Amino acid sequence: MKEVKYNGLTFEPYITREKIQARIEELAKEITARYAGRKPLFLCVLNGAFPFASELFLNVELDAEISFVRLKSYEGTSTTGVVKEVMGLTEDISGRPVIVVEDIVDTGNTIKRLVDDLKGKNPAEVKIATLLFKPESLRCDVTPDYVGFSIPPKFIIGYGLDLDGLARNLKDIYVLKENAD
Ligand code: IMP
Ligand code: MG
Repeated sequence: MKEVKYNGLTFEPYITREKIQARIEELAKEITARYAGRKPLFLCVLNGAFPFASELFLNVELDAEISFVRLKSYEGTSTTGVVKEVMGLTEDISGRPVIVVEDIVDTGNTIKRLVDDLKGKNPAEVKIATLLFKPESLRCDVTPDYVGFSIPPKFIIGYGLDLDGLARNLKDIYVLKENAD
């Protein structure tokens, strides 16, 4: 694997596709065991989580369903700045176990807002599965339940994660190179 460049920034290989797939298979096994006899609804957060959600969902051996939501950002009226609104949730989630599928939890603001919104719709429970987690960046009272990889607070791209819309189709995950050589 070689370095890649986007918008003048250089990224180096960080997590291979093989490692990603192996880890997702482990998570799928854990979820399969934990939800035996139940019918969880996987809720993929677009855009970034689609490759992770796809791989996870294909590996889960349950009568599960999947749906997709998007978070629309807009300038809020409160001091918190950018507020995100959940778009596209058509399913009735009341009484159902929901697993939110995210690409990455950084400050946690996005996932916190989403989980709070979902809890208002009376699901049986809401759990969080995220491919990546930056625990040192966390600023919210939220804990992901299923984590692919915990990483330091560095900027990464690939496997769904983007830089200004690009790089989502990289098969592996790359990290921003610090200090050019
Ligand atoms: P949070 O609300 O701070 O947890 O940020 C979550 C969102 O920020 C993610 O869903 C991503 O879209 C984006 N994000 C955070 N860290 C990265 C990164 O390292 N690379 C690409 N996008 C990121
Ligand atoms: Mg995201």
